[in-house]
Amino acid sequence: MTSIKDSGNISKEDGIVTVKGWVQDIRNLGGISFITLRDRHGTLQITMPKKKIDPDLFESLTRLSRESVIAVTGEVKESNQTALGVEVIPTAFELCSEAGVPLPMGVVDKVNVEMDTRLNNRFMDLRKPEVKAVFEIRSMVIGLISEAMAKNGFVNINTPKIVASGAEGGATLFSVDYFGKPAYLAQSPQLYKQMLMSTGLDRVFEIGPAFRAEHSNTNRHVTEFISFDGEMAWINKEEDVMAMIEEAIDYVLVNLKERGKKHLEVLGKEITVPKRPYPLLTYTECLKMAVDRGLPLKDGDDLGTEGEKIIGDIMAEKGNDLYFIIEYPEEAKPFYIMEKEGTGLSFSFDLDYKGQEISSGGQREHRYPELVKRMEKKGLDPNDFESYLNAFRYGMPPHGGWGIGVDRLVAKILDLPNVREAILFPRDIGRLSP
Ligand code: ATP
Repeated sequence: MTSIKDSGNISKEDGIVTVKGWVQDIRNLGGISFITLRDRHGTLQITMPKKKIDPDLFESLTRLSRESVIAVTGEVKESNQTALGVEVIPTAFELCSEAGVPLPMGVVDKVNVEMDTRLNNRFMDLRKPEVKAVFEIRSMVIGLISEAMAKNGFVNINTPKIVASGAEGGATLFSVDYFGKPAYLAQSPQLYKQMLMSTGLDRVFEIGPAFRAEHSNTNRHVTEFISFDGEMAWINKEEDVMAMIEEAIDYVLVNLKERGKKHLEVLGKEITVPKRPYPLLTYTECLKMAVDRGLPLKDGDDLGTEGEKIIGDIMAEKGNDLYFIIEYPEEAKPFYIMEKEGTGLSFSFDLDYKGQEISSGGQREHRYPELVKRMEKKGLDPNDFESYLNAFRYGMPPHGGWGIGVDRLVAKILDLPNVREAILFPRDIGRLSP
């Protein structure tokens, strides 16, 4: 089979070819008709001069419904009327699958279709080159993350997604009936990646699903997302973790700019690689910026969507897309984060990208007695975390790590307005199918 390469790999020298694809469009001008045939790589023009081709063939081809799948055999001719510089004059064709009429939504029509209609018909939505390109890019991003991690000696791990206790607070846990026992869908691989720090596998990463029963309907929250988690032992401070994230994101952006050129062109996007090191802002500075611009926030509050946006706007004016927010109050952070003794602060950070949090992380509490104290302070029962805590009893090195939402990362790289645009089949409070 010959594919329709937009690099123009169909040439006149190919002579007779068979090309397969979707009938994107048919234009019948009476004496001559054209089919635009589309496959993964682009489109090709099938040209049908009425007098020069078999009348039955002409009839059948011009009566095809849009989006039907066909295989066309014909002669390649040079053409200065087409983007590829060639066209195919058909001699035979096979109808592989006829598309129903009308289509649930158009592929090339310039009409604004609601997000819901698009998601309900995602198989059709994905036929649009600019939608498909997002997922070509996403695939590259995930590949590049793995490359960056391998270069830095991280082991690629998989941890359970059906778990006995949550790590990120009870409010967003999905319950599962596990053979009569209560269980949950994992909110993050937090407890497992930390347990591994006591094993000698001292640098691990995972790219896997995380589940959060988010009751809010925002453009950045879904109930199932893909998290790129990392954990590393023998750190001296949380800055060691921040430096590693920075290296990974920089590797992704630098290489995506080159390798993703073709898809970025389809999206009309250019990637700007932020200068390193990424600027540091303290939580207190951020809070002040948000309050100065009218947000009613008080010390300890989450900056929230609005607060993050304000800080994003201020940082954008200074030419900074990516920046860390450090020195969060320990109260605002989970039990596993290490406190900065006597300050009320924590060794934690968030990484924000264009006005949205894409990652949080920090140095973990690796000292068993302090960890138990932190659990109790947060109202958790250490007995519920027995197997996790065991890993801290018999020699646990200092360690830290992060979780980055892959969907948010891709959405921000491509300036997509909603995280759902970066997810093939998003799940949210109102959507369970397709
Ligand atoms: P937010 O404050 O935005 O709700 P969070 O503080 O709950 O996020 P963390 O628990 O720190 O998020 O998770 C780490 C990262 O995982 C986030 O920075 C984000 O990129 C991603 N993430 C978390 N929850 C979601 C979600 N519901 N949908 C999409 N991505 C998410």
